[in-house]
Amino acid sequence: MGFFKKLFSGTPTKRDKNYYTFNVKCTRCGEVIEGRVDLDNDLSLEYEDDRSVYFVRKGLMGNNRCFQQIEVELKFDSSRQLLEQQVTGGTFIE
Ligand SMILES: [Zn+2]
Repeated sequence: MGFFKKLFSGTPTKRDKNYYTFNVKCTRCGEVIEGRVDLDNDLSLEYEDDRSVYFVRKGLMGNNRCFQQIEVELKFDSSRQLLEQQVTGGTFIE
């Protein structure tokens, strides 16, 4: 992880680890897969109209013998609050 940290480090920030977790159910086999986004390292900054948003795309795969590829896209605002979520290959569950 140290390698990636160095790659993306702009100004070093001291914050507690910050994760956003979610559950996705595979549309093919019904397995529930937990996904986790590292809000410090996984997000990429994008500019949208006059605001900046954080964007992350995650590929998930379950433990079943099911090769459904589930792809999740999440968008957060500058204070890391979820704005939008999309999933292909599965559905979000609470
Ligand atoms: Zn599946």
